[in-house]
Amino acid sequence: MRSATVNIAGGGLAGALLAVLLARRGRPVRLIERRPDPRSHAADSGRSINLALAARGIRALEHAGLMDRIRPLMLPMRGRMIHEPGATAAPRLLPYGQRAEEVIHSVGRAALNRVLIEAAAGYAGVELCFDTTCTAVDATRGSLTVRDNRTGASRVFDDAATIGADGAGSAIRSSLAHAGRLLATELPLEHGYKELLIPARDGNFQLEPDALHVWPRHGYMLIALPNPDRSFTATLFLPQSGAPGFDTLTAEQAVRDFFDSEFPDAAALIPDLPAQFRAHPQGHLGTIRTQPWACGRVLLLGDAAHAIVPFHGQGMNAAFEDCAVLDSMLPSGEACDLPRLFAAFYEARRRDAEAIAQMALENYAEMRSAVLDERFLRRKAWALQLERRHPAKFIPRYAMVMFHPEIPYSEALRRGGVQQRILDTFDAGATGETLGAAQLSAADELIHARL
Ligand code: FAD
Repeated sequence: MRSATVNIAGGGLAGALLAVLLARRGRPVRLIERRPDPRSHAADSGRSINLALAARGIRALEHAGLMDRIRPLMLPMRGRMIHEPGATAAPRLLPYGQRAEEVIHSVGRAALNRVLIEAAAGYAGVELCFDTTCTAVDATRGSLTVRDNRTGASRVFDDAATIGADGAGSAIRSSLAHAGRLLATELPLEHGYKELLIPARDGNFQLEPDALHVWPRHGYMLIALPNPDRSFTATLFLPQSGAPGFDTLTAEQAVRDFFDSEFPDAAALIPDLPAQFRAHPQGHLGTIRTQPWACGRVLLLGDAAHAIVPFHGQGMNAAFEDCAVLDSMLPSGEACDLPRLFAAFYEARRRDAEAIAQMALENYAEMRSAVLDERFLRRKAWALQLERRHPAKFIPRYAMVMFHPEIPYSEALRRGGVQQRILDTFDAGATGETLGAAQLSAADELIHARL
């Protein structure tokens, strides 16, 4: 791999970070992105879309030496601010962790992508091709066919390898599936989403800025993350069809009535709500499973290999972790056997990808419903109590995923299951949010035996 160029299909979050990582090792990279260059084109008509960046993503960005450029984009969120249905009281903060550093960060997708592209462009060994769509790949040769969006002309890059980082709708994955080289399945979620802007008012945030706001409504929910310009990006997650469902919210009055009855405090902050609702696209969500991600000289990573639903805020974090893991597996200096490396990467990562896909689905039920449930809140308090008592052994699953990148996703899933079963043993006897002396000593024994 020392001198042969590696094609990266897709200059999104994972593709741009991977270009930086490979270039740092002196490997020539061609980064091919179908959209225009974000350094000279504003993203999507002023809409601000943000993501939660957590420890895994930060670790990968640190590994690439990029955190100094990214830190100014980050807004810390200490926990979930729960806006209960029909609430008259102020919303309530459920902290994400119990240490000051256990926060996640809201980051604008476009700004983050631009910084990554700028960083990639800073390496002489990176060739950037914008307005260029990847259309097909040859797994045996690693060659890639692309189309110039401005001229319509096609050309083939006949290089050492292609890495497909072209997102959930990956053309590279489709091309390999079409050739019978892999099996890809998509499990669509029956719920879609729509993003809405809560503008700043008089230059100030309209909601508490250092939290991720959630309006859980059992069958659906609204969330909002802060932006540096003091606006919030709200996202409504709702069934595609039904009552309520996106298909029944077509008339302006229906949208207004739905928000006034379900999210009155949020509705009051969005003056042009029906107009935004009409103008903004409705996205669909799902889980993509691919077997394998490695086919000869072609590798898939990030959403192209394993797109997940967004409820754990981990898709980008997992994609960044993919990049760092692949980079750490590359032998330094000497040429390497790419098909073997790609196959080893797939083996190293596939269980973790499967684990976070499962946990992301489970977290939807937690965010839209369980956070309103007394039993859930009680068990969460017990888990924090046990973590204080056994900080190296009993770590709540959410914290393992978000704040402990040294624990692989698959291990977080396994240990989380063991911990749930330990908490189950107290369900019948304990009603308060604190475990008593006898329960703690029973917990100590179980923790020593099982964790
Ligand atoms: P992408 O970011 O999708 O990048 C793919 C790139 O490839 C794009 O630039 C695209 O233009 C380009 N491309 C596509 N096809 C081609 C082609 N044929 N040729 C050339 N270029 C192509 N993750 C988190 O970690 N935290 C969150 O809070 C979070 N919130 C989310 C909220 C929502 C509503 C959604 C939908 C997702 C969320 N995610 C979140 C997931 C996150 O967006 C993805 O996991 C992440 O973007 C994956 O990065 P990627 O580089 O693999 O794909």
